[in-house]
Amino acid sequence: MSDSVKYLLDEEHMPKSWYNLVADLPSPPPAVLHPGTGQPVGPDDLAPLFPMALIGQEVTQEREVEIPEPVQDVYRQWRPAPLFRARKLEKALDTPARIYYKYEGVSPTGSHKPNTAVPQAFYNQQEGVKRLTTETGAGQWGSSIAYAGQYFGLEVDVYMVKVSYQQKPYRRALMQTFGARCVPSPSTETNAGRAILAQHPDSTGSLGIAISEAVEMAAQRDDTKYALGSVLNHVLLHQTIIGQEAMMQMEMANDDPDIVIGCAGGGSNLAGLAFPYIGRNLREGKKTRIVAVEPASCPTLTRGRYAYDFGDTASLTPLVKMYTLGSAFVPSPIHAGGLRYHGMAPLVSHAKALGLLEARAVAQTECFKAGVLFAKAEGVVPAPESTHAVKAAIDEALKCKESGESKAILFNLSGHGYFDMQAYTDFFDGKLVDEPYDEAMLAKALDGLPDVAAE
Ligand SMILES: *Cc1c(COP(=O)(O)O)cnc(C)c1O
Repeated sequence: MSDSVKYLLDEEHMPKSWYNLVADLPSPPPAVLHPGTGQPVGPDDLAPLFPMALIGQEVTQEREVEIPEPVQDVYRQWRPAPLFRARKLEKALDTPARIYYKYEGVSPTGSHKPNTAVPQAFYNQQEGVKRLTTETGAGQWGSSIAYAGQYFGLEVDVYMVKVSYQQKPYRRALMQTFGARCVPSPSTETNAGRAILAQHPDSTGSLGIAISEAVEMAAQRDDTKYALGSVLNHVLLHQTIIGQEAMMQMEMANDDPDIVIGCAGGGSNLAGLAFPYIGRNLREGKKTRIVAVEPASCPTLTRGRYAYDFGDTASLTPLVKMYTLGSAFVPSPIHAGGLRYHGMAPLVSHAKALGLLEARAVAQTECFKAGVLFAKAEGVVPAPESTHAVKAAIDEALKCKESGESKAILFNLSGHGYFDMQAYTDFFDGKLVDEPYDEAMLAKALDGLPDVAAE
C-alpha cells in the first residue's frame, strides 16, 4: 500500500464522458407523470422548463454520455479533483480502517455543484436561452449557477430560501459577484410566493417553495428556462465525474473501497460518487457497500414513503416516484440548508428500493463534532452538509476499531464550510439543538400525498 496522502490525476485523465446508472439497472425507474393528466410526461411537457439536450439526458439509456469540449474546458479550472487518504484522521481515531475522501471543495464555489451548473449553462446557451431561474437553499447552488451562467452569457435569477438569505450574506454576495440577482423566498414576485406569504407572513421558506417560484418565472417567458441543482437524472449524471475520477485514484492508491459514503439532500453528490460503484457492483458482482447519510431532522430515505409526489410545494412540477416526506413537510431550520428537501432523487430512491444502497439519519450536533475532529486532523473545515458523511465515515472507522477489521472507507467531502462559519460559531456557543422533526407534520404531509394509481 502506498504511503501517499494525496492522489492527483493528470488533466488528460479527466473522464471524457458521464456515467449513466440506468444502463446497468435491473429495472428502469418508474415513469415521471404529468401533474394534470397523470400520464407519463413527454419531452414537449418539459420543453418550457429545460433545453432539449438536458431533456434527452433525463431519459437516455446510454451507459456513457460524452462531456462537450467547452464543458471540459471549464471543468479543467479545478478538475480532476484530489482524493486524499485521511491518515491523520485515522491516527486520531486509532483505527485500523483506511479512510479516503474525494474533495469537491476545490471548485470555484467550494462544492460539487459546478459539475452540473457548467453543463446546464452550456446546453441552455446552445439552445438560445437568455435567462435562467433557479432556487437555492444554503446558497451553494445559486452561486454555482451564477458562476457557470456568466461564462455562457446568461442572466441568472436566484430565489433563495429566506432563512438562508438572512443567515448567509456572504453566499449572497458571491452570487452578486458572479452577476446573479438574488431574491429571498417566499417573495412577492410570484403567485406561489404571494400565496405562501398570505397564509404565513413569517414563513422562513423552504426549497419546495423556492422551486415553485423559480419554475413559475421560467414558465412565463420564452427566453427563460429553469435550472435545478440536484434530484433530476441529468444532474446526477453530470456528478458521476466524481466517482469515475475516484475509481482511478483509488487504483493509484492500490486500494478499493469496501464502503462508499455520501451525504444526501437531493442525492446528487452521493450519486456522483456512488453510482459508478453501484454500476460496478451490478456488472461485476462486487459487494461495495453504499451508504447515504441524511439529517435526523429531514429523514427522507429512512422515514419517508416511496411514493409519487410533487417536487415543489405549489404542485407545479411533474409527479415523480421518490422517497418523500410529503411536499407539505417543512423541515426545522437546521444549518445544513442543502439537506432540507422533502424528497430524494428518483434514481437514488429507485436504487434504495432495489436494495442497492443503505441509508442512515444522524443528528446535527454529532455531525458538527465529527466536522471539528476532521478539521483538526485534516486541515479542511467541512460544509455542514458534508459533516454528515464525515460522521458516518468516522462511525464506520470506529466499528473497525472494535472489530479489529481493516476496511477501506471512501466518502465524498462534497464541499468546504468556509462560508458556513456562523454554523460552527453557533455550535461552539451551544446554540445548536437536535430538534426532532415534527411527527404530526410528517403524518399530515404524508396523508396529503397525491393520489396516483400504481404505475
Ligand atoms: C447542495 C449540497 C449538498 C446536498 O445536495 P445533494 O444533491 O444531496 O448532493 C451536499 N453538500 C454540499 C457541500 C452541498 O453544497
